[in-house]
This record gives sequence, C-alpha cells and structure tokens, in this order.
Amino acid sequence: MNLSKSKYCEGFQCKKMLWLEKNRPEEKGEESNQAVLDNGTEVGILAKQLFGDYIDIDFQDNLSGMIQDTKKVIEENEVCNITEASFDYNHNFCSVDILRKNHSSYEIYEVKSSTEVKDIYIEDASYQYYVLTSLGYKVDKVSIVHLNSHYVRQGDLSLKELFTIVDITDLAKKKQKEIKKTIQEINDYMEQTEEPKDDIGMHCTKPYDCPFFEYCTKNLEKPNVFDIRGMRSSSKFKYYDKGVYTFKDLIKEDLNDKYLEQIDFEMNEKEDKIEEKGINDFLDTLSYPLYFLDFETFQQAIPMYDGISPYGQIPFQYSLHYYENDKMELKHKEFLAEAGIDPRRSLAESLVRDIPKDVCTLAYNMSFEKTVIKSLAKNYPDLREHLLNIHDHIKDLMIPFYNRNYYTRNMQGSYSIKYVLPALFPNDPSLNYHNLEEIHNGGEAMNAYATMGELTKEEQESLRKNLLKYCGLDTYAMVKIYEKLLEVTNRR
Ligand code: SF4
Repeated sequence: MNLSKSKYCEGFQCKKMLWLEKNRPEEKGEESNQAVLDNGTEVGILAKQLFGDYIDIDFQDNLSGMIQDTKKVIEENEVCNITEASFDYNHNFCSVDILRKNHSSYEIYEVKSSTEVKDIYIEDASYQYYVLTSLGYKVDKVSIVHLNSHYVRQGDLSLKELFTIVDITDLAKKKQKEIKKTIQEINDYMEQTEEPKDDIGMHCTKPYDCPFFEYCTKNLEKPNVFDIRGMRSSSKFKYYDKGVYTFKDLIKEDLNDKYLEQIDFEMNEKEDKIEEKGINDFLDTLSYPLYFLDFETFQQAIPMYDGISPYGQIPFQYSLHYYENDKMELKHKEFLAEAGIDPRRSLAESLVRDIPKDVCTLAYNMSFEKTVIKSLAKNYPDLREHLLNIHDHIKDLMIPFYNRNYYTRNMQGSYSIKYVLPALFPNDPSLNYHNLEEIHNGGEAMNAYATMGELTKEEQESLRKNLLKYCGLDTYAMVKIYEKLLEVTNRR
C-alpha cells in the first residue's frame, strides 16, 4: 500500500484504524482535537523561515510532481533549505517539513505545533529518515521542532526563541529495523478483505483518541466501564481486559465511592441526592453583593501580542450577573472587545469598573477565571491591586457538585456545568444552549471572535449579538444553579 508519514503513524498506533479508514470510512467519528492541533499549519508555515531563505516545494495532488520538483532543487543547489521536500521509496512517501542540504549531507526537521516532544513524533521523523536513507541520501541529523512554552513575546516575534529544536538522530537510527518491520506488517495487514477482529486496548487512546472507538465498541452492553466519568483509561482497560465492564459486574468491584455512586444511581434509577449540610456549608461562605462571572477566551499557537506565550489564554469577553443585596434583584453587565485588536487592556479596565473590591464573585470551575485574572494583573501593574482583589474573592460554584453534596442520575458522574445544568433544569428552554443562534459553546465563541475582523459590519453586529447572548447565558445558568441550591436548602 502507499504509505505517507501520517498513515505510517496511524498504522503504528493501530493497523485496524488504517484498515477501517480505507474500508469503512463512513464509521469514522470526530478526529481528535489534539491530532489536528499537533499538525497545525500556521506553525508549520512560520517555521519554514527558521533557518533563513528556503525553497518551497508547492503542494500538488500529484505526488510525483512534488518528488520531481524536489529532485530538481536538490540537483541545482549545493547548499539550501527545502520545505515540503518530497520523496518516495518503494511506495513509502514523505514530505519533510524542512530539509537542510549541505553538499552531500542532509538534515531533517519535523515541525510540530505542540509544546513538547511526543513519542509519536519520533516515529514520524524516524520514518522520514528511513525513506531518505533507503533512497541513498546521507542524513546526518534528525530533529523535532516544537513551540517553546516558556517563550513570552515582547516586541517582534523571535523565531529562535519561539521554537525549540530537539535532536533525535540517535533514536531515529536505532528505530530503523523496527520501522522496516512495521511497514511490512502494515502492508500484510491491509491485504485482508474480511474486517480484522483486533480488540480495543490502551492503543485506542494513545497517542490520540481513535475516531473509530464508537464503532469498535458498538457491541458492548451500554452503559459500560467507558461511561464512567473521571476514571483513568488504563483502569478502564484493566477492567475491560478482565471481562468486567458492564455496570452490573462493576458494582461488585472495589471501586472508589464516586464511581460506585454513578453506577448505583444509573442501575437503580435512584432519586436525587441532596446533602443539605454540605450545600449549606458552601452557601455559608458566600455573601452579598454577589457576582457571577464567566470569561470567553481564545488562544494563539503563535502569540500575536506582548506578554503572551504559545497557547496563552486571551480573554475577549465576559458576562457578569449580580445581586447587590439579599433582596436579590438580578442585574447584568457585560463586555465584548472590538474585533482584531488586543482585547486584554480594555477588558481589564472594564472588569475593575464592573466588580467593586472586596465583593464575593462566583465562577464555575474557578481555576480558569483565576488564571485569566492573574495574567491580566501581571500585564497591567496599574490595575494589579484591584484585579488581585477580585481574584482573591472568587468562590467556586462547582464545589457542591464536585463534592457530590448534590447529585442526580442525569449528571452521569460529572460535575461539569454541561451535565449539571440540564440535569437540574431538564425542561427549561431558557437554559438550553441548543436554542441559541450561531454560538452554542466556548469553541464556537472562540472561533467566532478570532475571525470576526474578516466579516462585514452587518455580519459583525449579528455575531456580536449572538456572542453576548451565549456568554450571558453562561452566567444566567450559574444564577439559576445558585438559586436551586438556595431552594433545596430552604433558604428562599
Ligand atoms: S478503536 Fe482501537 S481497535 Fe478500533 S480502530 Fe481504533 S485504535 Fe484500533
């Protein structure tokens, strides 16, 4: 079969994945975000400039065209950097992200958008070494280029600091026999006409979650061990391998209380659990005025603004519901930055205008909001004291659900607001994110803001309206959850 470097890596993870891709493509679920992220094109394009001038081999559907172009560049240049340099050895194809030629010797650089070297990247680069050396090229060095998470942009982007280069030449050399064997095994495997019966295992999650997992587990009785929230994959497969995977079997195992509770509630269709003492202990830590805060942020692999590292969270919007006192008259404020600018300063200024010092602020899963505020405080010393005051007074609305003081079967073992909200308010259309237009989740909000600058004025206005509605619902949902806690403890 014709292998590329990505197909080789897929086959290295699981041959059946490659077989299903070819023979049952309609069964493929969602691609793992991490897999897409690791191969991000934006970073690849920037990394091409890492060693100065370069000759780019244009992408063509016809691979032999790319291979011919590469050959020509190699023949015509004694010393050069070639990007997307393409080769084929015996139906094993690869495009090298950056190939450095110095007379008769070559260096391979594989670029990744991640901030660390993963084992699968070493397989990827070693496969390229195999293709090139099999064709007779003398490769002296193989390296992985990845983003440096410690880099903080100040002024012009420094490519030398933004990227980290890790030499893996020795590892690549050691893997050559194994690579040859794996290629042969993949080719033999792919000749099967009947669907292979390979079982699931840890390889389904490592290095990436397999998009065929639903398909490969379609005959397992539901719910099963893979529906247990919070359990590590290695433990799930340990039970699966023992043949203990239905809830009926798992309930007899020595599992932690939270897992057993999820199973028990599911199997026995139990009523809601409400531990008033735990909920009251949490509510006693709160005071009026009471604010409900939620940020929307976006991330850039390549930081565009000062003070940001690769993948740093950049807040662009917040919603704030609040009660000034125990009369509980609900009020609302919000902020959404203009498109195409660094939104942080105007957001920070607005935040300190909207939240007074020393008031209690609730967030759901507060570590996110706290990290965002801390980073703003670091970047804007004149606002630091007020921002840190807000930071220090944040409490987490998640606590009663995390502690399982309040638990229902429909939470399915989760304390995420995505599960808690519909479990508490199953029939309230005003709390249903599906009823929103255009923006229904944080990912959509992030993408919408990142690309808003490219839209017409009218389109921007409509999008802004929908972003505000979405973020507003986030804090309104928190208010409703808070009110529910008051209600079940007879505090209102
Ligand atoms: S779910 Fe597991 S066994 Fe099935 S194709 Fe994916 S990795 Fe292979």
